[in-house]
Amino acid sequence: MVVKCEEVWREISNYLDGDIEPDLRLAMEEHIRGCQRCTAVLDGTRNVVQLYGDERMLEVPLGFSHRLQHRLDENISRSRRRGFLGWMVAAAAAVLVAGSVEVARSSIFRRPELRSEHAQSGTGVPPDMLVVVSTAGKIFHRSGCPFIHDKAHVQTLTARAAMREGYAPCIRCMKQYLVAG
Ligand SMILES: [Zn+2]
Ligand SMILES: [Zn+2]
Repeated sequence: MVVKCEEVWREISNYLDGDIEPDLRLAMEEHIRGCQRCTAVLDGTRNVVQLYGDERMLEVPLGFSHRLQHRLDENISRSRRRGFLGWMVAAAAAVLVAGSVEVARSSIFRRPELRSEHAQSGTGVPPDMLVVVSTAGKIFHRSGCPFIHDKAHVQTLTARAAMREGYAPCIRCMKQYLVAG
């Protein structure tokens, strides 16, 4: 069985609940292993589950509109974990796909530092890594790099897409990938 990213996101709360067919679980595990986008969605969702499970205050990411915040509150007060999770997964997926730098940088969706073999060997920037470009510049950065110019017009995309569009890696924040292995 082969699943697509969209199917992974749709089933992710069932997956975390262990409420899923063994075939589908295997297919999802297989997919997530090879897909950084889904790995990030899964990590983000896990964080939300942990936060929510601890009944700690959910930190509302910068850039969330008042309406979204209101919807978050409603979801929490209704204590409908499944629905809440589903919505968070959708939000996480939307962030990763469409790219919202502010949300991506928030604590909920912060991804662990990349420790892939690519990163270690210095053979280049991992093509699936999410990077930030400013539409005026020709350089791509890790989100949070202090050398991003024009922070008002930034966009998140994969390193592969950035390079295809002619962006070059930032020599400061991408340094670890640029050192000859
Ligand atoms: Zn995927
Ligand atoms: Zn940079």
